[in-house]
Amino acid sequence: MLNFEEFPLLIPQDDTGKVYEGYLTMKNEDYKIKIKIQDGGDLRHTVVETEWKIQVIINQYWPILKKRLAQCNNLGSFLKDLVNIVENELKQEDLYSNCSLIHYLVQQLQTIGWNRLKSIDTSFEKVILVINDYKDRQHLLKLHFNSQNLSAEPKCQSDLPNKFLYHWNKQNGLKSLVHQFEESLKQYEEFWDEMEEIDSNTWILDPEQPRFNCAYRRIVIGPNVSIQINVDAKQPRNFPECIFLGADQLINPLKEKLNENLLLWDLNKSLLSNLETVLDVTFPSPTNSKKEDFSVECGICYAYKLELSTPDIVCDDKRCSQAFHQHCLYEWLRSLPSSRQSFNTIYGECPFCNKVRSNFMNSRQLV
Ligand SMILES: [Zn+2]
Ligand SMILES: [Zn+2]
Repeated sequence: MLNFEEFPLLIPQDDTGKVYEGYLTMKNEDYKIKIKIQDGGDLRHTVVETEWKIQVIINQYWPILKKRLAQCNNLGSFLKDLVNIVENELKQEDLYSNCSLIHYLVQQLQTIGWNRLKSIDTSFEKVILVINDYKDRQHLLKLHFNSQNLSAEPKCQSDLPNKFLYHWNKQNGLKSLVHQFEESLKQYEEFWDEMEEIDSNTWILDPEQPRFNCAYRRIVIGPNVSIQINVDAKQPRNFPECIFLGADQLINPLKEKLNENLLLWDLNKSLLSNLETVLDVTFPSPTNSKKEDFSVECGICYAYKLELSTPDIVCDDKRCSQAFHQHCLYEWLRSLPSSRQSFNTIYGECPFCNKVRSNFMNSRQLV
């Protein structure tokens, strides 16, 4: 009988120990297998039936396996030999398929220039290319090849603000892909120019380190007041969606200005200069201020970043104007017996000035 601990997935089909069915684990995969010892139980008359992929290997090595059958004194040690041989062969196949992937990649990289290769992983499946736009900004194009199927198109991930749409042509492979990516970069160059001007001339509270695919910015207007703009990457000079963050007394005058001046929006001017015109402000910038003056910590947890959120709920009282994370303030107010909640709104006292505030769940002000 087979040792159950060595082959737990092979089940004897009768009491004689001559027929087994179940699975054999090879290279971490379970393959269905049926083993039958014919003609009175002589091991030399063993028949093995299994999945096609493994059967091909067994048939190829059958003369050797047959010799082993004659030498082995039990089925268990024969099966160990069989597993060894098959696993070895599977390893060769992997090596071979990787070899052809390496070969293919080397050939492809030569056509686009090795200087564009940023990194490649040990399986040779994940490749990162770096491609410059006309202002020499470096963009990353991450490719994921399938070593089992070289003609399949690689999966692409890029830093474009919208999904990179491409057509995969195996013949011209990377060369054609890089060309298509360069064409896509051109569509966003104006967008990156606009964002670059904003990033270098204002204080950005969020995101902390804007990436090329990020189309929003939360720009400081003054202490405890900021504006978030959501820019259309394809039409970056259009009037963006604007969300004000801050106490009502601070943001209401800004909203009024914006409504009054909207007609002054001029598509021939940059996004930054249009924003300053319609809001009638000059954004504080690295040349005339320090970021610490504006990136205020949450009044409850004393941190700036809480997971992904920044303190964007501000006390309504202009003299207080303390900022909080939405989550921190919600938990704080919920723990106080004096707070009350109705639907999405919780009413309670500001932890700093004790003024009763309301509606803080929706205090992001949409224009
Ligand atoms: Zn907090
Ligand atoms: Zn307050």
